Amino acid sequence: MIRLATILIILSSHIAWAAPKVDWKAAEKEAVEYLQQYLRIDTTNPPGNETAGAKYLQSLLEKEAIRCAIFEAKPGRGNLYAYIDTGGKKRPLILLNHIDVVPAEKKFWKEDPFSGVLKEGEIWGRGATDTKNLAIAQLMTMLILKRSRMKLNRTVIFLAVADEEAGTGVGAEWITKAHPELVQKAEFLINEGSVIRTLPDGRVSYYGVSPAEKAVCWLELKASGPAGHGAFPPFEPTALQKLVVGINRITEYHPQTEVVPAVEKFFADIAKQQTPTMKMKFANIRESLKDPTFAQEIMKQPSYASILHNTIALTSVSTPIAKVNVIPSEATATLDCRLLPGANPTDFVAKLQGLLEGTGVEIRPISIGESSSSPINTDLFKAIARVAGQYDKGALVTTPLLASSTDSVYFRKLGITCYGFEPFKLTEDQELGHAHNERIAVSSFVGGVKRMLDLVLAMQ
Ligand SMILES: [Zn+2]
Repeated sequence: MIRLATILIILSSHIAWAAPKVDWKAAEKEAVEYLQQYLRIDTTNPPGNETAGAKYLQSLLEKEAIRCAIFEAKPGRGNLYAYIDTGGKKRPLILLNHIDVVPAEKKFWKEDPFSGVLKEGEIWGRGATDTKNLAIAQLMTMLILKRSRMKLNRTVIFLAVADEEAGTGVGAEWITKAHPELVQKAEFLINEGSVIRTLPDGRVSYYGVSPAEKAVCWLELKASGPAGHGAFPPFEPTALQKLVVGINRITEYHPQTEVVPAVEKFFADIAKQQTPTMKMKFANIRESLKDPTFAQEIMKQPSYASILHNTIALTSVSTPIAKVNVIPSEATATLDCRLLPGANPTDFVAKLQGLLEGTGVEIRPISIGESSSSPINTDLFKAIARVAGQYDKGALVTTPLLASSTDSVYFRKLGITCYGFEPFKLTEDQELGHAHNERIAVSSFVGGVKRMLDLVLAMQ
């Protein structure tokens, strides 16, 4: 019995998937050029202008005779859909990325955010890590597969969507509702999310595969009161005074910690990398959090705190008139709350409403999203683990919960297993999505191009 198991382990570690012959020197050069050119197309959202980006990607795919089409919910807001189907029996795999980028404040950048300049081994531009890098890595996989004329067991779909950053319903949400026939047969999807987290010395900390994400719960607080001259404050509380009391009640409230399965696995996995005293605590995070000293310590770190409880961030306070000598009759504040998978937004809002009782502050939702999650024990997870082992022997593959939200939520609704996995090696400081001076090292980028191809091959 033991002997058989041993043989099986040896065999499975030597099983390799059929791989096309690739001239990697040429392919790397090609990928870098494509990324540079793609970064030069301004797809800042708003307004988006994604069709320009979609057309660029389309031109590269059509050169290889890959079937593709652009779908627009509104003029200029293009979504690009392409696929390679060689008649395989397995259900399709979707490679998802978004075309739009967040605005860049040019004056804070050392290089033009739309220059795509290659300088000292780094490619600069808004979208270099979110998600034009992922798009080109996925696109290169399509091109290489098509050129190889390989027989695929699984159709591979390339989907570049509009409007991920603003979410006004013309991107992934629209595609899944208006054209479900394009995607609903798929079994798996690879999207933005976690990266290959590396340490400053270059060692791999872990391969992050996000199977779940928190839900957006954006709320507005509003108070009204007497208006007047600042020199004659009224006896009764003003709108701003009420709002301040309400805000205090809410910021003093700390939602209790909760450990969802993906987070439990994440802590158990990274336990090995902790100091001897922390090892035990991380390995059994559920129990450890009962110790108030430990809980307090861990909640000081936003990256851990964000995945252990529903969060509330006060993000703005405003009045219609902001003048030093005017008492405004109205005051509002916004709260960016993020809820763990399984949390009920109605209960959460009701809880905050309860806290505000007697303050005269009203609460109303601005936007309520949904949390979503996919199972962990799947062929895609195993394939990622295999690719991780191929590139970084013994590397940890784990499941960080995404505190932010992505388009995966729309595809999970269709029953597709979605993972946030970007196969690029990045340290925490190199994750520059939405930050000034967004850029990616060529070595990190081309490593991702190779891993993406190997991952798709491993899924055949
Ligand atoms: Zn993104």
